[in-house]
Amino acid sequence: MNKKICLLPGDGIGPEIINEAVQTIDAVARRFGHTFSCKTALIGGAAIDAKGVPLPAETLAACKASDAVFLGAVGGPKWDQLDNKSRPEAGLLGIRKELELFANLRPAILFPELAGACLLRPDIVRAGLDIMVVRELTGCVYFGQPRGIETRDGERVGFNTMIYREHEIRRIAKLAFETARLRRKKVCSCDKANVLDVSRLWRDVVSEVHKDFQDVELTHMYADNAAMQLVRDPVQFDVLVTGNLFGDILSDEAAVITGSLGMLPSASLGAKSPGLFEPIHGSAPDIAGQDKANPLAAILSMSMMLRLAFGLEKEADAVENAVRICLKDGYRTGDIMEADKILVGTSKMGELVRERI
Ligand code: NAD
Repeated sequence: MNKKICLLPGDGIGPEIINEAVQTIDAVARRFGHTFSCKTALIGGAAIDAKGVPLPAETLAACKASDAVFLGAVGGPKWDQLDNKSRPEAGLLGIRKELELFANLRPAILFPELAGACLLRPDIVRAGLDIMVVRELTGCVYFGQPRGIETRDGERVGFNTMIYREHEIRRIAKLAFETARLRRKKVCSCDKANVLDVSRLWRDVVSEVHKDFQDVELTHMYADNAAMQLVRDPVQFDVLVTGNLFGDILSDEAAVITGSLGMLPSASLGAKSPGLFEPIHGSAPDIAGQDKANPLAAILSMSMMLRLAFGLEKEADAVENAVRICLKDGYRTGDIMEADKILVGTSKMGELVRERI
């Protein structure tokens, strides 16, 4: 297979972890006989410094000409004074919008070797944790119109519009069911159908789409209950699908209970344009350039790319197994370090993964 990947290292630890992820995919290419051509482009603070904008036109063109986009992280104190539209983060929002990425897939996996880092009681996660949160990314109250702050009857009023069109619900529900088919075949759809009209439509449309996926079990849950169940009994979830607002909160909650920010990958997918793959953590300016960053979230994002963008199941499994074996062999970066384990830096951890592919 021959694929083009656009790399967006960004800021802080972005370039360091991207470097390890790229070497990992090179190892996959050698072992399985593929060719991955990588082209690097500027985004975030690095793009502001070089080009004056967080998302230069040539970066966008390079992304659109690729089969997949791989991002490190953006942002840092150097650019914190800039207004919202000029900040590094605007580059990330811009690329999501331009590539029409309507779905965000975030696995929250607790590797048994890292059970000690989990924030939940051992008896709650004894059976492990493997949840995929599928969040709608381009609709809901974040983008709905009208929105604003106005003065009415002598006082300020703030308002946003929570809105979903049927086709937006249909396409994210379909993706959730397809994702579940490759996993444990369970979808839980989260909404607030007890109080919101938009959620009643959400529930109806998800149930309609389910008719084409009868081999997958569908349940509905109110989002506030889902927030509780994620800490009470997270093992019950396989795929959790929800709108943009609830997904923002529930995906962070699902991730944080694993206790390992440096271990969590993500994928954002659109209908046709290249998908965007990135670790969920930020640019970690406090440890940038010190060979301390955990590269595993980036390496696991690379494996999501192999699986979801290129359909390379065996190759993705090889990367995930290599990460598992590294952990089993006792290697840890500082963020996941425990007593009796072997502390390694960013580049060593990358090398250890490559040796195990
Ligand atoms: P952060 O995720 O960068 O860091 C939070 C803490 O986790 C820090 O102590 C950091 O050292 C640690 N950490 C994060 N990733 C790590 C890794 N791979 N290995 C080891 N430790 C790791 O979040 P923050 O400090 O809130 O934000 C820093 C900057 O990153 C800000 O400018 C923020 O806007 C930006 N940010 C970017 C993204 C993105 O690019 N997707 C996401 C979140 C935050």
